Amino acid sequence: MPWMKGVPDPCRGYTDMASLFIIQCPYCGARDGAEFTYGGDATKHRPDPADGHDADWHDYVYQRDNPKGPHWEYWHHGAGCRQWLKLHRDTVSHEIFEVQMAAPVGKAEKT
Ligand SMILES: [Zn+2]
Repeated sequence: MPWMKGVPDPCRGYTDMASLFIIQCPYCGARDGAEFTYGGDATKHRPDPADGHDADWHDYVYQRDNPKGPHWEYWHHGAGCRQWLKLHRDTVSHEIFEVQMAAPVGKAEKT
């Protein structure tokens, strides 16, 4: 819908923005960005639950930067292999520098 350009789709986010780039999925190959969903900042690390510092959890859950330029992000390939990826992407030009699996298949990242 042309009059909806730039308006977020409640289910898929900014779908017209996602179509601006191609993501090289390690499993599926080059795919349209519309097949992926943005999953958040990949530079945040989950605090150790044993430490129990509320300020660390507040920062982890609620505080986000809005970087201009290269940034690591999580993306989910929901219309393909359904894997989580980490993209090193320029938030201005949408150039993608690197794509990695978010974690080895079957193993969660421990940080
Ligand atoms: Zn894929």
